[in-house]
Amino acid sequence: MSFADFETGIARFNDVLCTLNVLAWDSRTMMPAGGIEGRSHQIATLTGIARDMATGEAMARAIESARTELEGVGPDDLRLRAVETAAAGIAQLSRLPADLVRESAELKTRAQAAWVEARAADDFAAFAPWLERTVAMQRTIAEALGYDSHPYDPLVAMYEPDMSWERLRTLFSGLRKELAPLLEAARNDPPARTDVLERRFPIDRQKAFSREIAARFGYDFERGRLDDTAHPFEISFTRGDVRITGRFRETWLPGGLFAVWHEVGHGTYEQGIDPAFTRSAFACDFLNLYAVGGASFGTHESQSRLWENRVARSHRFWELNYDALRSTFSDELADVSLDDFWRAVNAPRPNLIRVEADELTYDFHIMLRAEIEAGLMAGEIAVADLPAIWAERMRTDLGVEVPNDADGVLQDVHWSSGMIGSFPTYTIGNIMSAQFFRAAAANANVADGLETGDYAPLRAWLRENVHRHGRSRSPNALLEAATGQSLSTEAYIGELEDKVARLTA
Ligand code: ZN
Repeated sequence: MSFADFETGIARFNDVLCTLNVLAWDSRTMMPAGGIEGRSHQIATLTGIARDMATGEAMARAIESARTELEGVGPDDLRLRAVETAAAGIAQLSRLPADLVRESAELKTRAQAAWVEARAADDFAAFAPWLERTVAMQRTIAEALGYDSHPYDPLVAMYEPDMSWERLRTLFSGLRKELAPLLEAARNDPPARTDVLERRFPIDRQKAFSREIAARFGYDFERGRLDDTAHPFEISFTRGDVRITGRFRETWLPGGLFAVWHEVGHGTYEQGIDPAFTRSAFACDFLNLYAVGGASFGTHESQSRLWENRVARSHRFWELNYDALRSTFSDELADVSLDDFWRAVNAPRPNLIRVEADELTYDFHIMLRAEIEAGLMAGEIAVADLPAIWAERMRTDLGVEVPNDADGVLQDVHWSSGMIGSFPTYTIGNIMSAQFFRAAAANANVADGLETGDYAPLRAWLRENVHRHGRSRSPNALLEAATGQSLSTEAYIGELEDKVARLTA
């Protein structure tokens, strides 16, 4: 047994995780409905194999002998860091007994089916018992993982290491205070004409335009594909095969375009990871049994939001690209000026639905969900009270009346799939995206490129400072090394202030 055995063991483990990703991609893009039953067995079996490989005797021995072989090397040695990353991840995974993992997977399948029906029937009471069971299950998982101060902490840390409810609460209260006046200012302005985006925009032309920009942003189609799906996502099989997906609607132009560029941000991250990390511990999320190169969910989201919001929703971007869009849709956009278009794709639209929210309202949707999750985990909020809490907060935060639970508390799939703790990573991603973007734009080549529409320097900066490191650095270490700061809302609020100033000018 040696370090080479450790590397081989991890490489085989990573192969299984990547194969699981292929199955997941297929089930969300190509698989006919008849495949569901068989596929769920295949995924459960392979997940069990991956878990056994990670937590088995052979891996434990390989880790021990690798440690012995590497005795005396410095703490920054990448081999040692790979061993310690794997050991820490596997220790966490081992805290979840196999029975608990199986019960949790079974509950997820049944709770999700109940959620689909309850949502279709607008019947929260039908879903409530399933949510209660899910909360109890997640509390058991939190107890198994262990925590110091709050039962929500280990669930959040599954998606965002370094993060706790205490830190999130501080972050959120600052954000709420700073976002509220911005939203108020933007809402007082005469509303933008978003109806011009609801004309008929042929989907083949939407796709062609989004692909052209995706390639200019640096998504490598030789090492990736764009396919159709119901809920867009990105998933990687190896560094050389990183898939993105999109969904286009003929009568809502920005939906399809910006979703592709969002996934392009995820995809360029995965494509940009150091090839040396292929099949290594730095391409494995051990706790979630997921093959991924990005440092955390929040870090990943920072890359998608950066391209979607910081670049593609900027005025400069459309100064450079609106002519091309207008020649793609010459009839549809004939009477829409550059400025009208930019306003329309940036207009604040306080709205019931999280996934349709704009930049100024999005984080309110997240903060509501995170506060509910923390309250449920601490036993301070009862499931039965959720519709009332939801309606109250949508009214006070966004001035929106909730007409039914289907478009309120039942709108997201997350809780039915046991994903309590993942919502905060969207807001963390928003905040980080502005920090990375500001640090990148301080580089003269990057700034020049943004002015002229050459995105190669920005992509190169991100590759050098973020992408290539994969999971070899913690999210916070990565952020501090790249920007000189830990997580801070200052850059994000600055970006939004600039946007509101321009929108209301
Ligand atoms: Zn995303």
